[in-house]
Amino acid sequence: MTINGIIKKAIERLKDENKLLTPEYYAEAFCKEAKLAGMIIEECNQVDKYAKTLNNEFQVELKLYRLKTTQELMRYLISKLNRMNPTNCAELLIENQLLTKRILEAVELLHNKEAAELAGKSIDLLSIPNASKEQFSTYRQAWVNFITNYDDSFFNHLKSMGKVYYKDLKSTIENLSEEKSIAKEGNLKQIAAIIIASLVPSIASSINEKIAKISDNLRKNPEILTMQSIEKELRAAIKLRISLDKNTLKAMIQSLDSVLDKLSLQLIGMIEKSDQSNTEIKDIKRDLENLNKQNNLDFKTAHNKLYTIAIALEENTAALSQDLKAHDNEVKLLGKKIEGLEKELEDARQNSREDFLTKLFNRRALDDYMEIKENEFTRYGRNFSVVMFDIDHFKKVNDTFGHEAGDAVLTAFAAILKKDCRTVDIVGRYGGEEFLAILSETDIEGGVIFAEKVRAHVEEAKFMYQNQRINVTLSAGVSMRSKFPSQKATVNSADEKLYLAKQNGRNRVES
Ligand code: GH3
Ligand code: MG
Ligand code: MG
Repeated sequence: MTINGIIKKAIERLKDENKLLTPEYYAEAFCKEAKLAGMIIEECNQVDKYAKTLNNEFQVELKLYRLKTTQELMRYLISKLNRMNPTNCAELLIENQLLTKRILEAVELLHNKEAAELAGKSIDLLSIPNASKEQFSTYRQAWVNFITNYDDSFFNHLKSMGKVYYKDLKSTIENLSEEKSIAKEGNLKQIAAIIIASLVPSIASSINEKIAKISDNLRKNPEILTMQSIEKELRAAIKLRISLDKNTLKAMIQSLDSVLDKLSLQLIGMIEKSDQSNTEIKDIKRDLENLNKQNNLDFKTAHNKLYTIAIALEENTAALSQDLKAHDNEVKLLGKKIEGLEKELEDARQNSREDFLTKLFNRRALDDYMEIKENEFTRYGRNFSVVMFDIDHFKKVNDTFGHEAGDAVLTAFAAILKKDCRTVDIVGRYGGEEFLAILSETDIEGGVIFAEKVRAHVEEAKFMYQNQRINVTLSAGVSMRSKFPSQKATVNSADEKLYLAKQNGRNRVES
């Protein structure tokens, strides 16, 4: 196809597309036809060629504006350059800002609290000389949020009162006031609904038949509200509703009362288990019991009484625990005292020289005296004898008559021993049922005489325990200090002699 043919086609195309024969439209149409004819025309690709040399941002913008001809591209670039002009740019910005401000001031006057507030704040932001990009972005988002959440459903509520213009609240309101009759009908329906709702009891679980009937009537014909007679009926229904609630409340209090009764019974049980001697607690118990006897006691009185009782109980418990504390302290003090006494006793026992059962010297005292006698012997040659006594078959005494009887025998024997010796002699319990006598200035004969005297007295003695006669004999071994190299050897010898006496048949003295 020739160029002429393409030109012809381009003009036809413009005609078909109802476009004016302007240079831009013509160029566009020419390029399209040339392309269809398979001709590559330099002019057609100029925009693309130049566009590719621009930065990315511009390229995107060019595509967006669908610039097709070089002339369009030129105009676009000129406008861009103009906007880059600082003075022009600043002027535009000021104009922009002023417009924004005016819009916001208008919004601030609207009867929407949220929008008005947001507008006020946005105006403030515009007045800040160096407001940041982020601040603007925050407010932009706030406006987006406002638009997103804006609820215009309130128009629907107005529907029943007249025609609603969704885009014009003012007209809607005017419309409402014009069509009063419709509004009244809607009002009655609403009032009826409110009354029906108020007739439903708030505590009682079900409504009464009478209330149900009147509610139904109201729902069906709200107009009956305009009749005079309805007032009486409504009053009665409301009274009924209140009494329904009252009865339910009464039942609730009664069941609460029974819980209180059980509670007080439990309290009585607890008090009975606690200190019976406490008169105040007894008083409380009596009060509680009386409370249980009064069947038709009302809630308030029951509550007050229980409250008083609870306070009294609390006070008593506090006093009781105070007492216990004081007691506890006393017990602790006593414990300390006992500890001290035990220690004293132990000390006394340690230092004691007396045998606790027989009141004769104990082993410790005997050892001390033995040392004195030994010193007298070595220093002044004062001889002495020792006698070791041992009760015969004493185990049998214990086994037959009991340990207490055994103790009694030991005590009685000690008395005999004490009586038979001289004041200068020393007698003591050596251990168990063994006794030792240290006889000053006494030789072996004297020792034997003494031992024999004791043996005879014991044999003759009537040991009585709880009206029972206990026959007791003893054996004894005698030795003299001067016959031995040491005091220890002397005592050992007495022991050996005692053993001999046992072997020789008991109830005898060996030396
Ligand atoms: P024997 O004739 O061989 O001495 O016989 P016995 O039974 O006396 O023998 P033994 O010495 O073995 O027993 C001594 C008994 O004395 C054993 C012990 O229970 C008792 N005895 C020791 N001290 C006391 C005491 O203070 N009171 C009482 N009731 N019995 C004691
Ligand atoms: Mg013995
Ligand atoms: Mg014995």
